[in-house]
Amino acid sequence: MISKQTLLKTYPLIDTHTHFDAPVFDSDRELLVQQAYECGVRHLLLVGYSHQYFERMYKTEQLLNKLVPLTAKDVDSANLSQIETHTAIGLHPFYIKEHSEDHLKNMAHMIAEQRPIAIGEIGLDTFTESMREPEVFDKQKRFFKAQLDIAVLHKLPVMLHIRKAHAEALAILKAHDYDAHQLGGIAHSFSGGEQEAKAFVRLGFKLGVTGQITNPNAKKLRRAIHAAVETYGIECLVIETDCPDMTPIQCQVSDNNNSWPDKQSHDRNVPANLPWVLLSLSELLNVSPDRLAEQLWHNSCKALQKTWDYSPV
Ligand SMILES: [Zn+2]
Repeated sequence: MISKQTLLKTYPLIDTHTHFDAPVFDSDRELLVQQAYECGVRHLLLVGYSHQYFERMYKTEQLLNKLVPLTAKDVDSANLSQIETHTAIGLHPFYIKEHSEDHLKNMAHMIAEQRPIAIGEIGLDTFTESMREPEVFDKQKRFFKAQLDIAVLHKLPVMLHIRKAHAEALAILKAHDYDAHQLGGIAHSFSGGEQEAKAFVRLGFKLGVTGQITNPNAKKLRRAIHAAVETYGIECLVIETDCPDMTPIQCQVSDNNNSWPDKQSHDRNVPANLPWVLLSLSELLNVSPDRLAEQLWHNSCKALQKTWDYSPV
């Protein structure tokens, strides 16, 4: 079991995937970012999915980076005094029907003007019946490849969203010029099996682990992460909240009578929940949280082409 002692300690963390610009955070975003800072989060990524929200993301990034932390006077000046927010933009495969060629062109333009930290989230998703229709799936593949082209052109890492289409995504990545060993990249909220996990790592991607890992019943996921680490070490992982989704099991309130007036905001995940992902992984892999946190930091930097300093809290 995760002890209270471990929870009291704070580890420097990078939340590699959030949708913290979502309206569900509008009423208390400043408070939540403060709480995340107190829980060790030092960098946070806003990840794109639809052309219509790119402006909102850049605005949120600017706003968050301007915030003066309430605890500024208590913070060692040698350390970062606030969370740094970064934006990735991309056209998500699940919303493929909404995307147009113009969005793609516009996005390429935006990237040239205002370099994002990454391109994402991009990939393939055949979760629903309609996503499997040949025409729809073809469009997904086309947009996926086009965005990989943009990543290569600008030497940017990609954030992959792959759901129920791992073999097809791997085939595209193997045939494409995009080299994750050089450019970095994350297979966000990884959901495949053992062989697929290893295949993405072999291509140079880090596996993004969410709050799903905190669920003891997520056996397939736990086996896949375990298998990848057995072969490639803890160097192949990064962590993320994917908030407002993927709430760690420890942070879910049992809700049998379904009587909450605002279910969405009640169940939402927040960046401050990220330590639960670290601690669950630490248990699963039998690696101390200190060692794991430091390695995850370096893995995230590698995946994002950054050289952020690791300063233990
Ligand atoms: Zn996401």
